[in-house]
Amino acid sequence: MTPEQAYSDLIDRIREASVLSSCAAVLGWDERTYMPRQGAAHRARQMALLARLGHERLTAPVIGERLSQIEGTSLVAEPDSIPAANVREIRRAYDRAVKLPSDLVEELAQVTTEAQGAWQRARQENDFAQFRPWLERIVALKQREADAVGYRESRYDALLDEFEPGATSSEIARLFADLSRELTPLIAAIRESGRTPRRDVLQREFPVDRQQMFGQAAAAALGFDFDSGRLDTTTHPFCTGIGPGDTRILTRYNPRFFSEAFFGILHETGHGMYEQGLPPDHAGTPCGSACSFGIHESQSRMWENQVGRSRPFWDHFFPRLRQTFPETLRDVSLDDWYFAVNDVQPSFIRVEADEATYNLHIILRFELEQALMTGDLAPADLPGAWNDRFRAMLKLSPPNDAQGCLQDIHWSFGGIGYFPTYTLGNLYAAQFMVAARRDLPRLDEDFRRGDFQALKDWLRDAVYQHGQRYRPIELYRRITGRPLENRPFIDYLRDKYEPLYGL
Ligand code: ZN
Repeated sequence: MTPEQAYSDLIDRIREASVLSSCAAVLGWDERTYMPRQGAAHRARQMALLARLGHERLTAPVIGERLSQIEGTSLVAEPDSIPAANVREIRRAYDRAVKLPSDLVEELAQVTTEAQGAWQRARQENDFAQFRPWLERIVALKQREADAVGYRESRYDALLDEFEPGATSSEIARLFADLSRELTPLIAAIRESGRTPRRDVLQREFPVDRQQMFGQAAAAALGFDFDSGRLDTTTHPFCTGIGPGDTRILTRYNPRFFSEAFFGILHETGHGMYEQGLPPDHAGTPCGSACSFGIHESQSRMWENQVGRSRPFWDHFFPRLRQTFPETLRDVSLDDWYFAVNDVQPSFIRVEADEATYNLHIILRFELEQALMTGDLAPADLPGAWNDRFRAMLKLSPPNDAQGCLQDIHWSFGGIGYFPTYTLGNLYAAQFMVAARRDLPRLDEDFRRGDFQALKDWLRDAVYQHGQRYRPIELYRRITGRPLENRPFIDYLRDKYEPLYGL
């Protein structure tokens, strides 16, 4: 078999596995939208079968054989070529998968499925003791996973690598420590400014049908293609790229709080446009798949915050918002509104946090999960450690564990190493925006006219079209010409908040 034949056979096999996982994605979407409650047990069987078939295909010995028939040949000599990038990423996933003993994979799947139920009950009943034994088992299993996968510096890196390939915890720790030093005085100055927006303007009657209409129109204006996608309602908003021509975004509506659905829609629109912009010719292969969780998050944060909470965005949309909700917003000015959507106020719940305090929530989780992995923190001591760190960082005492260490689903599904990608997304987005503004100096005027095409085209060239051709930090360097740093994000926050809070 020539390397070309081996490559073509390898790609066919990888594509087939990806078709299986896209079937699971449709079922997953249905499960969270229209599936009747009684369908859950049968759905779990369908999902388990698809997961097993996909895993078998990806870890089959023939994948390893094909990889060795290709590696070292002239077909992959140019490291940035499509074949080289596909082979590099398939090798990475294959090595990781075959290093994990099958009993560990099975136990993890089973324990995390049950743990999610236990976590849900524990949070509802505000009872950490119910979740503790599950967390203990998950931490032990993830330690085994990290040891099986292997790492250079720390166990945590082996887990982080699944979400942000090539990132290391020591590098992120340095970045985050510096970020926390910059954010803390900024947040304190905002609190001490004595200025607060009219928060009530967001918490009025916003009829759901009109929110739906307005949100869908905004997503279309930003560039989400509704011929290749849908917007539906769910309890846990997300975006799922099912394949070329089919990307689903989901949100939830609160008739008495505007921000929940609207900024959720902008966020998922950012994820959705990335999925829609991936090159269809490479669908089902690494070069047709999103680069990393952090890069994905940079796209959602860019449209939700950098664009959607900007003054030019609301210069365009606020008059339309008032037409949509004339009674609700009768006494509200554009200035009131712009300040309200940029309210900074430390709070307990990560997903409700503003752009400045959000990252402190992430840094806290990053520190605690590293300590869980090294064994320096026992799961039983998590609530105390959480509350101590929370008081130190956000100057608030969590009233209970439901609003403290039990608030997020991630640890219950084994997603240790996931959290830092949220803040990496914010940092990437800020620097991408600096680069975009350098290339497109009239961006704010475009936004004021409701024209977002130039930014979307820029992102297609810079980010979407490459899929996993470059590792995240390499993609970042190519776009920005810089190493990853906090400065652009801090400058962005200061430029926005200094005039609002008179700093
Ligand atoms: Zn997101």
